[in-house]
Amino acid sequence: MKQLQKAMIDEFKAHFRGDALLPGDAGYNEVRQIWNAMIDRKPSLIARCASPEDVVQAVKFARKHNLLVSIRGGGHNIAGNAVCDDGLMIDLSRMKSVQVDPNTRRATVEPGCTLADFDAAAQAHGLATPLGINSTTGVAGLTLGGGFGWLSRKYGMTVDNLLSAEVVTADGSQVRASETENADLFWGLRGGGGNFGIVTSFEFQLHPVGPNVLSGLIVFPFVQAKSVLTKFASFTETMPDDLNIWMVTRKAPPLPFLPENVHGKEIVVLALCYAGDPAEGEKLIKPLRGFGTAHGEHIGVQPYTAWQQAFDPLLTRGARNYWKSHNFSRLSDGAIDAIIEYASTLPSPQCEIFIGTIGGQTTRIAPDAMAYSSRDANYVMNVHGRWESAAEDKRCIAWAREFFAKSQPFASGGAYINFLTQDETDRIAFAYGAMYNRLVGLKKKYDPTNFFRMNQNIKPV
Ligand SMILES: Cc1cc2nc3c(=O)[nH]c(=O)nc-3n(C[C@H](O)[C@H](O)[C@H](O)COP(=O)(O)OP(=O)(O)OC[C@H]3O[C@@H](n4cnc5c(N)ncnc54)[C@H](O)[C@@H]3O)c2cc1C
Repeated sequence: MKQLQKAMIDEFKAHFRGDALLPGDAGYNEVRQIWNAMIDRKPSLIARCASPEDVVQAVKFARKHNLLVSIRGGGHNIAGNAVCDDGLMIDLSRMKSVQVDPNTRRATVEPGCTLADFDAAAQAHGLATPLGINSTTGVAGLTLGGGFGWLSRKYGMTVDNLLSAEVVTADGSQVRASETENADLFWGLRGGGGNFGIVTSFEFQLHPVGPNVLSGLIVFPFVQAKSVLTKFASFTETMPDDLNIWMVTRKAPPLPFLPENVHGKEIVVLALCYAGDPAEGEKLIKPLRGFGTAHGEHIGVQPYTAWQQAFDPLLTRGARNYWKSHNFSRLSDGAIDAIIEYASTLPSPQCEIFIGTIGGQTTRIAPDAMAYSSRDANYVMNVHGRWESAAEDKRCIAWAREFFAKSQPFASGGAYINFLTQDETDRIAFAYGAMYNRLVGLKKKYDPTNFFRMNQNIKPV
């Protein structure tokens, strides 16, 4: 590992208010470890920023000494770009304030917040904005890649609800980006990932949600997968925006509402959330129970914040993970058959294939309105390879790649940048589609030397 000279570190500490962690320091290993245990990198210095001014200092220091920089928000990204070998890891996870103005229904959120931090503060006023489905995910990375979750059919992608951002650019300047200030930068931030600068504050539009929502799971036997998936595909094409239903197929965890003899067996799960009046939702979800003969269900009216955490126990950090993803405008028979074929050969008890349903409001925005442009994606499929030991790497990765190839002919194009792994740099231009050239032009303007390159990198050439 490259060691920094003592004089350099002293120079850095003189201007930095947060914690500067070196290899061997208490906390160094904890901060450099991210959600995906496949990634094991050792930065020469970790700058745990306490303020936007600290971020400026870190950027200027890295520029002066020509250090590779990585940026950590929630540390959840599968590709692991939050941490680098040798260079400077700029860790934002201590910057956690959330300010909610219930009158304007706006929130100002610092980049170290998790979804749980943001949801808790907004729900204190009965408000929320669309975020993801695992509450330990970082708001920053999720937003900069697009962001979708239970509320997206009703209120759009997370980026559709971003009103402005405070940004530290590659030359260390602090700028504001919105529809009226540095509008080109604002366009690029909404989907362009960490390519254009470090966001030190996000301003979001909030909406009335809950605080209690009808939500939960229905679990079907895997032998009924064809019928359940076919009915799911057709039902989700016309359901109202208030309702969202995702499909997961995996081996059954030991959920208390499932008979014990089902635990460990393949199942098909429909997970749902209704963002309107629960009584209306009850009527709407009735047909789902007829999709098959369920093993069991666990559906009720519960706090939105509790539903946002429902999947956390299955998505804890520290496991080895490898993902592959496609967008679909519709789930054809071919796609359904491929899902069933590969779900019947799951290589580990934690591997799963999920279909996140979006559509609704996410499709009503012009594709060139911002860098995130997959407005024809009604479903985002993720092959979630997850396992415990390095000995299983080859088998589990091969399974994910094979299924990805098999389902590719049925995909609609584009890809969700936040689900790309580190070996998919060849899919970045494909993911952005027609927006890619415009993003390259923006990169040339805001980061001509590719100072921010630990990301799904848009090269300035
Ligand atoms: C278990 C799990 C569930 C998920 N579920 C969903 C979901 O439901 N919906 C969804 O949309 N996504 C989901 N995701 C994907 C998630 O959106 C991405 O992993 C996202 O990148 C996580 O953000 P982070 O801040 O935690 O990541 P980090 O790894 O900290 O950051 C990812 C990258 O974003 C950039 N970045 C981070 N912070 C900043 C900043 N302040 N300024 C500039 N660049 C920055 C950097 O390039 C960094 O490498 C899920 C991920 C996991 C692991």
